[in-house]
Amino acid sequence: MRTEFLPFSPPLIGPEEVDEVIDTLRSGWITTGPKTRLFEEEFSAYLSAPGALALNSCTAGLHTALVALGIGPGDEVITTPMTFTASVNVIEHVGARPVLADVEPDTLNVNPAKVAAVVSPRTRAILPVHFAGHPADLDPLRELARAEGLQLIEDAAHSIPAKYKGAFVGSANTPAAFSFYATKNLTTGEGGMLTGDPEFLDRARVVSLHGMSRDAWKRYDKGGTWRYDVVLPGFKYNMTDIQASLGIWQLRKLQTFQARRRKVVAAYNRAFCSCEELELPVERPEVEHAWHLYVLRLNPASLSIGRDQFIEELTARNIGTSVHFIPVHLHPYYRDKYGFQPDQFPVAYRNYQRMLSLPLNPRLTDADVADVIQAVIDVTQQFRR
Ligand SMILES: *Cc1c(COP(=O)(O)O)cnc(C)c1O
Repeated sequence: MRTEFLPFSPPLIGPEEVDEVIDTLRSGWITTGPKTRLFEEEFSAYLSAPGALALNSCTAGLHTALVALGIGPGDEVITTPMTFTASVNVIEHVGARPVLADVEPDTLNVNPAKVAAVVSPRTRAILPVHFAGHPADLDPLRELARAEGLQLIEDAAHSIPAKYKGAFVGSANTPAAFSFYATKNLTTGEGGMLTGDPEFLDRARVVSLHGMSRDAWKRYDKGGTWRYDVVLPGFKYNMTDIQASLGIWQLRKLQTFQARRRKVVAAYNRAFCSCEELELPVERPEVEHAWHLYVLRLNPASLSIGRDQFIEELTARNIGTSVHFIPVHLHPYYRDKYGFQPDQFPVAYRNYQRMLSLPLNPRLTDADVADVIQAVIDVTQQFRR
């Protein structure tokens, strides 16, 4: 057994990131400036996105998108219960009502048929989340949005770099918000990126920085002016050049990171595919999975312990795990405000009860991966029914 605890998802920061941050600190310009611009350019070029706006979180990106699209009180936004609370909190922030639609049993992404069933005259937008890095089924969602005149806003926190039918998530004209939080596939400590068409991004840029018609870098740069207009009461959501220094190099290393993630996934799949106690994550043929998370599901009928104890057994074997996610409708605020029952979204609820996320990150050595596999197999065999 492992003697040292294996953390679930530590970042992988190299000397390039460190040097770039130091260069920024010495440069005389540490907030939004040339490196943020460079990161935006390289990010949108990587995805072939029409444009990109760097922000201080994915949450900020989602909030900014809702505000820039004019979604507010009286409006409804349809999203998934199988997500982090940020996806739903932002809907509350703009005074709109989150409407949940249950997920598909294989990918745990929002089910387009369930989305269609809850469209109402108040619906303004659909907010799918690409759970674990597997793209949601975008074609039927786009078709529904087109037919009903709705906005589509993608929570792409997990999905750099994921592809749906050959195109990168975030490369469309509709808004997508990425996260560079410490545990995500690409990290700037805290940070995010909003992609979408240039006209939308122009508005989003103003919303994200105090509602000012010109940003600080342009004002303080040579040839800039002290003059600006406040055109709406905006937010303070800009990314700093210190964060962008990390992002520039993380993006340049992304291919290598992803190759390692895929190798780890392949090793897990090989090791677990013959265990009837375990259900493995899927990758539909029309997508490229970003493999942010490796979500294992337990088959309760063939094990004598539940998910919680399974996690305890792994912790006792020094393997760090997590659960993604406690469904939104179970959290007290949402449960009480909207009167949700656990079984109202049965696919999300039942899968939540039997899911856990194994370590999946480019820092894992072959020995770490072997330790995780050994611990999972050991617990499975010990508690086989
Ligand atoms: C991490 C995460 C977010 C929030 O990202 P931040 O950059 O921390 O704001 C939003 N949605 C999902 C699904 C996430 O996992």
